[in-house]
Amino acid sequence: METPKRLSMYLEQGDGCCNCHEYSIEGGPFEQDSITVTQDVWCTACGAEWTNVFKLVSIKNFKIEDTENEAGED
Ligand SMILES: [Zn+2]
Repeated sequence: METPKRLSMYLEQGDGCCNCHEYSIEGGPFEQDSITVTQDVWCTACGAEWTNVFKLVSIKNFKIEDTENEAGED
């Protein structure tokens, strides 16, 4: 059973089981819905299972290709 403290630690550390803290996590496919991604995961050590929920927090490496429209810039 997850407790608020364990959940908080899990969210800060991002890995290991949120129940037993073993690094025995396996996961299913990522499923994207708009800006949220979820992944069902489970711990092979203690049998706990839950769904990780990821949310877009930022972007980086933004690029835009030059197009044939170069008239506006000299
Ligand atoms: Zn576990």
